Amino acid sequence: MNFLEERIIKDGLVKEGNVLKVDTFLNHQMDVELLDEIGREFYRRFSDLKITKVLTIEASGIAIAYSVARCFGVPMVFAKKAKSVNIDGEMYTAEVESFTHKNKNQVIVSKKVLSSDDKILIVDDFLANGCALQGLISIAEDAGATVEGIGIAIEKGFQYGGRSIRNLGYRLESLAIVESMDAETHTIVFREQ
Ligand code: 5GP
Repeated sequence: MNFLEERIIKDGLVKEGNVLKVDTFLNHQMDVELLDEIGREFYRRFSDLKITKVLTIEASGIAIAYSVARCFGVPMVFAKKAKSVNIDGEMYTAEVESFTHKNKNQVIVSKKVLSSDDKILIVDDFLANGCALQGLISIAEDAGATVEGIGIAIEKGFQYGGRSIRNLGYRLESLAIVESMDAETHTIVFREQ
């Protein structure tokens, strides 16, 4: 088991509805040492790429994306949920259905911060059905930028997002892939990688 898998076993909580709670170290309280380690691990895995920007979606992707961007020494951009935002001028937009909140959000990125010269590493905390990633990919494509890679902290391998994104040909790396989890027995099984 790697460092993130060990932490999920120690502190993760399996909830009904295929939800894994990581609120004590990643999604609410954040373990900054762990975030540093996640940043370094993604840097190690993608260091062959010439990344110019790290892209994520608010809110829970932000800390991970910051840590990764710090390692690459590049800016980090997060897509904002449109209703709470105030960006002037033109923006790229995508509609994203939230797995955890079951609602749809318009997410936006200002045209000022992404361009066709950008080589993007997309980063997020979870991958479930892939809606968040599809939205970020479509924003990057609208900007004419290249999606060089995708880094996910926790992929739920029993949901279809990972398969569909890999089938599209993207280089997707997940630090932990949950093969199965059970809310009653509190068991979590990871995919061998
Ligand atoms: P997707 O768009 O791939 O269906 O879901 C990914 C998004 O939903 C992530 O950005 C994450 O915030 C949230 N999410 C999906 N599944 C889980 C989960 O099991 N636990 C938590 N905490 N967030 C999740």
